[in-house]
Amino acid sequence: MKKHNFSAGPCILPAEVMRKASEAVLELDGIGLSLIEISHRSKEFVAIMEKARALALELLGLEDKGYQALFLQGGASMQFLMTAFNLLDKKAGYVNTGTWSQKAIKEARLFGDIVEVASSQKDNFKYIPKGFDIPSDLDYLHLTSNNTIYGTQFKEFPKTDVPLVCDMSSDIFSRQLDFSQFDLIYAGAQKNMGPAGTTLVVVKEDILGKVSRKIPSMMDYSVHVAKDSMFNTPPVFAVYVSMLTMQWLKDLGGIAAIEEINERKASLIYSEIELNPVFSGIAAKEDRSNMNATFNITDDELKDVFDEMCKEAGISGINGHRSVGGYRASMYNALPMESVGVLVDIMSELEKKG
Ligand SMILES: *Cc1c(COP(=O)(O)O)cnc(C)c1O
Repeated sequence: MKKHNFSAGPCILPAEVMRKASEAVLELDGIGLSLIEISHRSKEFVAIMEKARALALELLGLEDKGYQALFLQGGASMQFLMTAFNLLDKKAGYVNTGTWSQKAIKEARLFGDIVEVASSQKDNFKYIPKGFDIPSDLDYLHLTSNNTIYGTQFKEFPKTDVPLVCDMSSDIFSRQLDFSQFDLIYAGAQKNMGPAGTTLVVVKEDILGKVSRKIPSMMDYSVHVAKDSMFNTPPVFAVYVSMLTMQWLKDLGGIAAIEEINERKASLIYSEIELNPVFSGIAAKEDRSNMNATFNITDDELKDVFDEMCKEAGISGINGHRSVGGYRASMYNALPMESVGVLVDIMSELEKKG
C-alpha cells in the first residue's frame, strides 16, 4: 500500500522525480551508462551541475545579483562551522530558536565571540523571538528560518544592516521571500529539495574574503565558487535528484505556485487542530510553521486509538521529535494535499470516538 509520508526528513519527493532518478541509475538519458558510473567531469554531469546551480538561483530570484549557488557535502551540520570559518572575524549574533540553532552556535564559538541576541529556550522554543536589538558591530546575524523540531517559522525577518545568514534546511523553496535580504542561505537537501548527501549554499560573493584566518580549501566557499562547485567529486546522485526536484517545482509554476499549495495544506491541518477538542497545537499560533505542524492529543487514552487509525490509513512519520513529544506532521513541497486530507479525516473521526 502506498503510504502517506509525513516524515520530517529525509522526506517525501515527487513520484515523477523518483521515477526519473531510478531510470538514471540504470541509464542516463540514453548514453549507455549510469549516472553514478560516469565521470563528474563528463559533459553530461557538468551540464547537470550547471543546471542545478542555475535552477537554484532562478527559483530564488537571485540570478545576476552577485550570488553563487554551490552543492556541497557534509549536510547542514557542516555549514554550522563553514559559515563561521568563512565569515566570523570577531563577533557574530545568533537567534536561538531550537536544537539546530544551538548546534550552529556551538560550532561558531570555536571561531569568535558569539552573542545570543534572542532566545525562546525558556519556553521550549514554542515561539519565534521578535523585536530584539541587533548590535551593529556583528560580522553577521544567523537565523534558522524554520524550526523543524518545534514547528515554528519566521514569518518576518529582522531588518538590519548586518549581513544575514540563514539556515533554510526545512523550508527552502516553500514560500516566496525577498531572498536578496540574505547574504548566505544554506539548506541540507533532504528536507525539501532532494535526497541526503548534498547541501545547497547560496552565497553573495562580496561577503567572502573578509576574515583574516587561513581557510582549508574544502572549507573555503571561495574555492568552491572558483571551481564551479566541482572542487572535488560532488555527490552526483544527490545533485541530480535535487536538480530534478527543482525542475519539477519550476514546471509547477515555481515558489509562488507551491506556496499557495503549502498554505492550503497547512490551513487544513491547523484548522482541524484548532476546532477539534481532542487535539491542541504546540507552537504559538502566529509563528507556526507551514512545513511542520506540531500537536498533542489532549486525552492520553485516545493515543493508541489514533496511532492504530493512522497505521491502518497508511500514515507514516507523524511522531513528534523526542524532545517535544506529541505529533508532528511534516508537509514538505512534494506531500500531496490528499495525504493531509486523509490525516484530517482521521483526526475528526477520532473526535467522534472520544
Ligand atoms: C535537519 C536540519 C539540520 C541538519 O541537517 P543535516 O543535513 O543532517 O546536517 C539543520 N538545520 C535544520 C533547520 C534542519 O531541519
